[in-house]
Amino acid sequence: VQIHPGVHRIDTDFGGRTNAIYLLAGSERVVLVDTGIDATPRQYLVPYLREQGLDRVDVVVSTHADLDHTGGNAAVGELFPASLAVCHVLDRDWVDDVDALIEERYDEYAVLGLAEPAEDKESLRAIARARPTALAVTGGERVRLEPGWEIELLHVPGHSHGHLTVWDSRSRSLVVGDAVLADGLYFTDGRPAFPPTYRYVDDYLASIDRLRGYRAGTLLTAHYPTMYGDDVDAFFTTTSGFVATLDGVLVELLAGSDPPATLPELVEAAAPRVGPWEGGARLPLKFPVLGHLERLESSGRLVRDPGPAVPRFRWQG
Ligand SMILES: [Zn+2]
Repeated sequence: VQIHPGVHRIDTDFGGRTNAIYLLAGSERVVLVDTGIDATPRQYLVPYLREQGLDRVDVVVSTHADLDHTGGNAAVGELFPASLAVCHVLDRDWVDDVDALIEERYDEYAVLGLAEPAEDKESLRAIARARPTALAVTGGERVRLEPGWEIELLHVPGHSHGHLTVWDSRSRSLVVGDAVLADGLYFTDGRPAFPPTYRYVDDYLASIDRLRGYRAGTLLTAHYPTMYGDDVDAFFTTTSGFVATLDGVLVELLAGSDPPATLPELVEAAAPRVGPWEGGARLPLKFPVLGHLERLESSGRLVRDPGPAVPRFRWQG
């Protein structure tokens, strides 16, 4: 659908969840924001372009390294070989290498006692193919789409180190990918799916503040419905509220743990106190929990004991 003149949202289905990609189409240049998974470009993008009478993609911005955002990069490269593949320099190694992304981002937790099952890694590998980044950026770049219309790339870390957002000042829209994740992810029918997967807490909070400062009229995310007006600010409030809640719960759990807790214990104990997720749906809480633990470590309130099996997080007060 066209949200504003030249600003298009293409909703795709990803396991019962919405996974939106975006087109910013000017008379001189067409920018695609995220590519979905490997099948997305042929299944959703090509038919949409045809329907809109568009026949090109000139710039492909990967908001960040995650398989549901970059999995279609190789397919877009095959369909539009002249297009320029862009991502942030800090996410480039993972955008360019599916195996590195799986091992270093998703399975970073194996040494802390939460390994990704081999079959899960296999199914992740099956939905994504990488395309080498042509232009690695740092934020602040402006892309001209037509006379009088340019968009700006913003560096908004937190969910990943190199997360990008697109700011379109003409329509006052932010295309934020996963830079803000409210109190969790939801299925398209509204049922809760899993916790918000931010990872670097101070960066995330700073990015929320920065994005909020744009006073956007339209918020375009990957996994939530389009938001307008007051709902945009409410979404930011929900997002930072979850961070505060999880931090408080973790401090309480850590202070009361004897012996000191492991990451899997903290995820299991914190999950029912911060959201409605059950069973395996709680596992993605490992991303923000480790982020909060690292923040407490760097402020000296927590230390990591090596432990006989997996590290334990010892409260210092
Ligand atoms: Zn993501």
